[in-house]
Amino acid sequence: VQEKLSLLKENTHNTVNSLLTDLALERAALVDAKIANGETIGLLEGIPFGIKDVYMLQGTYTTASSDLLKNYKSAYTATAIQKLLDAGAIPIVKENCDSFGHGSSSENTIFGAVKNAVNPELVGGGSSGGSAVNVAKDYTIFSIGGDTGGSVRQPAGYNNVYGLKPTYGRISRYGLMAYASSTDCVGPLAKSVEDIRIVLNTMSGKDTKDQTTYTSKTIEEDSILNASNIKTVGYFKNFIESEAIDAQIKADFLATIEKIKAKGIEVKELDFFKSDILVSTYYTLAMAETASNLSRLDGTNYGDRIEDKNLKESYAITRSEKFSEETKRRIVGGNQVLSQGFSDEIYLKGLALRDAISENFEKDFEEVDIILSPVTPSRPPKIGDSLKDPLAMYLSDAYTVGFSLGHLPTLTIPQGTETGLQLTAAKNNDELVLKFANFLK
Ligand code: GLN
Repeated sequence: VQEKLSLLKENTHNTVNSLLTDLALERAALVDAKIANGETIGLLEGIPFGIKDVYMLQGTYTTASSDLLKNYKSAYTATAIQKLLDAGAIPIVKENCDSFGHGSSSENTIFGAVKNAVNPELVGGGSSGGSAVNVAKDYTIFSIGGDTGGSVRQPAGYNNVYGLKPTYGRISRYGLMAYASSTDCVGPLAKSVEDIRIVLNTMSGKDTKDQTTYTSKTIEEDSILNASNIKTVGYFKNFIESEAIDAQIKADFLATIEKIKAKGIEVKELDFFKSDILVSTYYTLAMAETASNLSRLDGTNYGDRIEDKNLKESYAITRSEKFSEETKRRIVGGNQVLSQGFSDEIYLKGLALRDAISENFEKDFEEVDIILSPVTPSRPPKIGDSLKDPLAMYLSDAYTVGFSLGHLPTLTIPQGTETGLQLTAAKNNDELVLKFANFLK
């Protein structure tokens, strides 16, 4: 813990939180004492980990990398984080990210852009960029990101680590600051499938504080070592044949397909919705939900407040000054699609498309065990570029958002390239993606 903390002090792309440092050292001393006493310790006991700064951890700041909440202290601890604490893991850092999860580059933050671990001129990816970089650079053993439309999987791909978006509802969202509640997922990032398995098992389970959670079976170590029940995989033809895909990403993906065929697995081409439909469906719903979720941030109950003539003016100036441009773009867009005259035309259409996307997946999983996809159509941009073109940034989410809308378990595995490979299975079949990841190793 001490070693990792000393590394973090040099790490400018982190919210190093001194309150957290003291807590970490206290907890580490307890584990040391146990070891000195000859007591056996648990698998996660004493393991230092990072937390995307959107999770409540009582007594520490939870800023969502935003100006509005930069002085906000968590009043309680998120269920997923509490389970890790109960298992003895030690949080050492609240990690830099796109503010409220709004972004794909970790540049929408008051703490400065997160630099890519492989090439510091490029973005770290987002929104869980700090989490992916910390794992890639061995500053943390694992980190807990949040994935609404790709925020764990995409930075994992950009930094060559593993990142899982579990089935929606497998892990409680209680204490995760809500972005788009209908697709928000808690997701671990780590350097091995085994670490992902252990952390996933620890955080999973039904929670009365999140009614979308369900009870899941523990994934045993042995059960993910044998992939003989995986016979057929598929991929979306239109993703790979799209004009928007980077030539290198396409070549890497097709090489992977050949490798899989050579291992005796059948590979099928599948039909799917076009990227622009996926991206517009996701952003319609995500913006609507975030406009609603962030309406509570008016400077009254949480975070900083700017006083003005009256209450209404105070709300307006607090929100205008303290939300970032990207966050305001989403709130304005979200309120528009929810407003009278637009909601039937846009929001309800988004909901219908989401159902159609889920049905498409159900059909696919009657035919194949796993769906493969590149994580992104494009390579990580240079720092500064995404800010100039928000629409291009939204389009870079084309390959991750569909799986979010479908509530499916999806894992990014590193490929030694800049973007990684995504493995997806049917709902509640998180075990199968871990199995296939081991098989591909
Ligand atoms: N990049 C996507 C967005 O900005 C996904 C973000 C996320 O998963 N939190 O909405």
